[in-house]
Amino acid sequence: MTRRTITRIGAVAIAAALVSLPLGAQQRSIEPTKFTRAPMIQAPPAGEVEVLPVRGNVYAIFGAGGNIVVSVGNDGVLIVDAGRAEMSDKVLAAVQRLQREWAVRNEPRPIGFGAETRSSVAERHITAPPKPIRYVINTSADPDHVGGNEKLRNAGHTFTGGNVAGNIADATEGAAILAHENVLSRMARGTNSAQAEGQPAVPADALPTDAYFVDFYKLSHYFNGEGIELFHMPKAHTDGDSIVHFRSTDVIALGDLMSTGSYPVIDVAKGGTINGVLDGLNRVLDMSIAEFRLEGGTLMVPGHGRLVDSADVAYYRDMLTIVRDRVEDLIKKGRTLDQVKAANPSGDYDTEYGSTTGPWTTANFIEAVYRTLGGGEVRLKPDTTRRPDTTRKAPAPVKRP
Ligand SMILES: [Zn+2]
Repeated sequence: MTRRTITRIGAVAIAAALVSLPLGAQQRSIEPTKFTRAPMIQAPPAGEVEVLPVRGNVYAIFGAGGNIVVSVGNDGVLIVDAGRAEMSDKVLAAVQRLQREWAVRNEPRPIGFGAETRSSVAERHITAPPKPIRYVINTSADPDHVGGNEKLRNAGHTFTGGNVAGNIADATEGAAILAHENVLSRMARGTNSAQAEGQPAVPADALPTDAYFVDFYKLSHYFNGEGIELFHMPKAHTDGDSIVHFRSTDVIALGDLMSTGSYPVIDVAKGGTINGVLDGLNRVLDMSIAEFRLEGGTLMVPGHGRLVDSADVAYYRDMLTIVRDRVEDLIKKGRTLDQVKAANPSGDYDTEYGSTTGPWTTANFIEAVYRTLGGGEVRLKPDTTRRPDTTRKAPAPVKRP
């Protein structure tokens, strides 16, 4: 699963090779090699999405912006994050394919009774129509996570509960959209004043229909055979982040708490902090159970990048803790932001996570860590805007005899 396992297997292979080599050859074979970036699993080509079965009836869709997690089954479809707006047709097609495949796999079998009591419907392979999208969950208000909200919602359906047959709501009402209330208020501000906080204008149908404001939210009933819970991660990537736990399949959608190919995006303007990210990752590690040592077991889908397990999350947490501690130490020594950047506190991790180009560079990350640890706080300086008081007369010089 992880690179560590691969390294371990590699080490065994090298050791085995060394044993079989003559002494001179051994010395030649362990010459230091150049440090290169570890091979990554290839992302789908631009403009395409890729579906990966995670476990049971839970799937991940990559390539639509933020990663998407989908639960398909008897109760319909639940989607965590909606991807970018321009990818929503592809996402919808992928979701519908998953639904159809699920329906075919779970086609009712002909019952082996006599001809008079047997229904011919099942034998004609008439599968039930695909179940609608019932829920869309947003882990944050980022455009690459909420962009597909409107299309996915309108392709879906909300059923009223209780003893009402069918749904009595407006026939055009689509799927429910769930998110933390800070996501709702941020997106709602986007509907009033476009570009508020850099948030693009949001159509009303894309807004969350149900928001929670306490530390967790759970679906009131089993959905596709399991409980599904949202946990608020305060002040992490933003102030409105949720992670989503599928309790039976034991899959957690992490949102932008983690990204396997880069440092976490800490959106300081929207309430993100480095310590909030670390608290969130520690919470995830508390919730997850490995299959053996730190490998396997609970599977997690980060907001960007590949599928991970506890070992990957622990490694990422450790890396961030080390960088955080280094920056904190430099702040205590009174270093300015430029001095901290020059000290290169993340240098040994930049090969794997760093970037000098794009929307989230290493310098952006270090600045976010520095600022949210209180670095560069304005210190009281003499007020240069005040003018000297010219109305007062200078005291007369003291005459000395
Ligand atoms: Zn994202």
